[in-house]
Amino acid sequence: MPLFDPVLRAVRPYGAASARLAHAPRSAREAVTAIASAELPRDVQIVENRPDECPQCRADVTVAQLRQLFTKASDGDLDAMAAAFNESFAQFEIDRCLRKAHFFAQIAVEVGPEGKPVQENLAYKESQLQIFGYFQSNPEEAKLYGANASHGAHPEDIANRAYADRNGNGPVASGDGWKYRGRGYIQLTGKGNYHAAAQEIARRRPDSSVDFVTYPEALTTVLGGMLSAMAFWSMNDISQKADGGSEGANVDAVTRVINALTKSYPERRSSFDRAKTAFDSDACITP
Ligand SMILES: [Zn+2]
Repeated sequence: MPLFDPVLRAVRPYGAASARLAHAPRSAREAVTAIASAELPRDVQIVENRPDECPQCRADVTVAQLRQLFTKASDGDLDAMAAAFNESFAQFEIDRCLRKAHFFAQIAVEVGPEGKPVQENLAYKESQLQIFGYFQSNPEEAKLYGANASHGAHPEDIANRAYADRNGNGPVASGDGWKYRGRGYIQLTGKGNYHAAAQEIARRRPDSSVDFVTYPEALTTVLGGMLSAMAFWSMNDISQKADGGSEGANVDAVTRVINALTKSYPERRSSFDRAKTAFDSDACITP
């Protein structure tokens, strides 16, 4: 497989690097295809830097910046992550120092210091399955599929039940719960969200198109994982929350959109403090 896949190369506004899709399964590579020379929709415009704007806002993120957040990642993974972000951050309007800091602070907690797009691990213990309404109503199935003294966990069966009839998923028998389990740099979950993210990418990058519903594994690739995270960010107007500032309450406001029920609010605040330093967002002069 070539390191740079010409099918995946998209026109980028400020530079020359190309996103990579190394180690992607064939179906996932095919899921992210480009249509050459399409025009941006009228409501997504790339505005040139004005002299009174902070030059760092529109600058590419660097491996050195990402290294401060993803301390256990390989240079290759960080290089690929930076390329995938740099190729499209303007179109998704994550083009302010503070927005970048909030964005990567969240990703660092979502995927951890290794910096790889992950997929959800649903190997729950029987006792942990009570967090899902389905298993509260069906405790005998929690005993069947959750890990306990007599057997290990059945993650696929757990996902198909825990996520049935939610977020655009069909019933248990549809298999949607497992097929559309949490994936990417920001854990996208549910068929409805997979579909909405692909629509958002089609709107903001009409020169690329993705089909996350047919090829959900595309979210575990660097490019698919990054595009899905940026799409989730823009379709939920998270930049507006990020623009609120650098206080703990501002980080919490972002966290609430990404994972309201998480216990990681304090961890995300600490992650933001590192990101704020990495992107020097306090020095940003853009009003
Ligand atoms: Zn700036």
